[in-house]
Amino acid sequence: MSKLPTVVHWFRLDLRLHDNLALRNAINEAENRKHILKPIYVVDPEIKNKIGANRLRFLIQSLQDLDLNLRKINSRLFIIKGKAVECLPKIFEKWHVKFLTHQVDIDSELVKQDEIIDQVCDENDIFVVKRMQHTVYDFNSVIKKNNGSIPLTYQKFLSLVADTQVKDTIEITKNILEECKSVDFESDEYNVPSLEEVGINDSELLECKYPGGETEGLKRLNEYMAKKQWVCSFEKPNSSPNSIEPSTTVLSPYLSHGCLSAKVFYHKLKQVENGMKHTLPPVSLMGQLMWREFYYVAGAGTKNFDKMVGNTVCTQIPWGKNETHLQAWAQGKTGYPFVDAIMRQLKQEGWIHHLARHMVACFLTRGDLWISWEEGAKVFEDYLLDYDWSLNAGNWMWLSASAFFYKYFRVYSPIAFGKKTDKEGLYIRKYVPELKKYPSEFIYEPWKAPKSVQRTAGCVIGEDYPNRIVDHDKVHKDNLQKMNAAYKVNKEKKALKRKR
Ligand code: FAD
Repeated sequence: MSKLPTVVHWFRLDLRLHDNLALRNAINEAENRKHILKPIYVVDPEIKNKIGANRLRFLIQSLQDLDLNLRKINSRLFIIKGKAVECLPKIFEKWHVKFLTHQVDIDSELVKQDEIIDQVCDENDIFVVKRMQHTVYDFNSVIKKNNGSIPLTYQKFLSLVADTQVKDTIEITKNILEECKSVDFESDEYNVPSLEEVGINDSELLECKYPGGETEGLKRLNEYMAKKQWVCSFEKPNSSPNSIEPSTTVLSPYLSHGCLSAKVFYHKLKQVENGMKHTLPPVSLMGQLMWREFYYVAGAGTKNFDKMVGNTVCTQIPWGKNETHLQAWAQGKTGYPFVDAIMRQLKQEGWIHHLARHMVACFLTRGDLWISWEEGAKVFEDYLLDYDWSLNAGNWMWLSASAFFYKYFRVYSPIAFGKKTDKEGLYIRKYVPELKKYPSEFIYEPWKAPKSVQRTAGCVIGEDYPNRIVDHDKVHKDNLQKMNAAYKVNKEKKALKRKR
C-alpha cells in the first residue's frame, strides 16, 4: 500500500462533477502536492431499511453514473461500506488522509455525523474544506442579513436576496494527473454495489420513469430549458396535478441528490428569461427554485425543523393517532379515488405533482384524518425520489397550516379539486384501475353509483374497492373547529410569553 498522503472528496448530496467546488478543491490539492486523490461515497449496510426501494435505485444509478463520469477524467468513485462515523476514521488512517473536502448539508442526521468527523479530523491533523453548494444562496448569509433570524415569509426572503450577486458555476475541464492515482485504483473492493447487493430484489421495483444520475439530470434540464416559451409562461398554479405526463419539470430528484446543481439551474433560467417576457416569482419556474431556497434558509436556521415539538416556527396542534387511517392513506385505500390515485402514483413512480402533494397532505392532516404532519412526512421520506429534509418538513408544515401558511379554513376537497383539471378521471383510471370502467359522473365519488352501475363497471364498493374511511363533508368541519381551538391556545400562550 502506498504511503503517499491522500486527499479525499466525500460525496454526499452532491452526486455530480459539474459545479462542485468542494471536489474541485480536492483535485487542486492533490495535483498541486502530488498526493493521491480518492473521491468516496459511504454506503451504510443498513441503507435498505432507511430508504425506500425506488429512491435506493435512484441513488445506485446516480453513483454508477458518477463513477463513469469520474473515470472519464481519469479517476473513479471509491465506495466505502459502513457507517460513516465508524468507517471513516479507519479509512483516514489506512490511506494517510491529510485533506478532506465535502459540501455543507443541513439534514440534522448529517450535521450530527459531521460534528463527529470534524473531531476525528481535528485530532488527526486532517484539513477539512466545506463548501456551501447545494443551494443558489449561502443560507447562513441570508440569516445573518436578517439579523440572525429566518425570514418567515417568501416575500421577505426574496427581498433579502434581491441584491445578492449569484456566483458563477465552476467546471472541471481537464483530466486528473496520472500520479494522483492510487495503487488500488482497479480494486473491485470499492465498486458501486448492484441493486441486489444493497438488498433490493427486482419484484419490489416498478417502472423506472426517472433514472438517477448527473447525466440524466443535465439532459432533463437542457430539454426543458430548450422550451423557452414554456419556461417563460410557466405558472405553477396553472399546471395540472393529475396529468398523465408531468406538467412540471421533475428536476426535483436530481436537485435533491445533487445530481444537478441549483446554481446551474438558476443561471440557465436567467439566460432563458433574458430579453423575453416572462412570469415572475412566486409562480414562475425561477419562483419555484426560490421556494427551495426559502425552505433551506428556514431549515438551516430552525432547531428541530423536522419535528413539531421544540420547533419554534411550528404551531403546536393536538393531532390524533389512527394507525388504520394512516395505513389506508399511505397505501392508497381511503375510498377517495383522487387521494388514492395520488398515493399510488407516489408509491409506484416516486414522484407526484406539487398540488397533488397539497391534496394528500391536507387530507391526512387538517382536512380529513387529523393525523400529524410528521407521520405524513415519514411516508413521503420513504416513497419520494426527491426526498429532501428541509423541503419535506417545510412543505408539510405549510400544508398542515402549522407554519408559513395560516389560512387553515381553506381545505382541499378530495372530490372537486381533481375535477378541475381532469373531468373524466383519466388519472384515477390509470392509478386506481379497479375503477377504470366507472362512468365519469361517478369516478370521483364511486359510492354514489347505484349498485347496478357498480356491478356493470366490475367494481363493487366495499368489496372490490374500499368504502370511504371518513365522510369529508362532516370531518372537515369538525377539524376546522379543532384548528380554530389550537390556534387560540397558541395565541394565548404567545401572549403570555410576551408578558413574561
Ligand atoms: P418544478 O415546479 O418544476 O420546480 C422546479 C424546482 O423548484 C423543483 O425541482 C424543486 O427543487 C423546486 N420547488 C418547486 N416547488 C417547490 C416547493 N413548494 N418547495 C420547495 N422547492 C420547490 N420537494 C422536494 O424536492 N423534496 C421533498 O421532500 C418535498 N416534499 C414535499 C412535501 C409536501 C407535503 C409538499 C406539498 C411539497 C413537497 N416538495 C418537496 C415540494 C414540491 O412539491 C416539489 O419540489 C415539486 O413538486 C417537484 O417537482 P418538479 O421538479 O417538477 O417542480
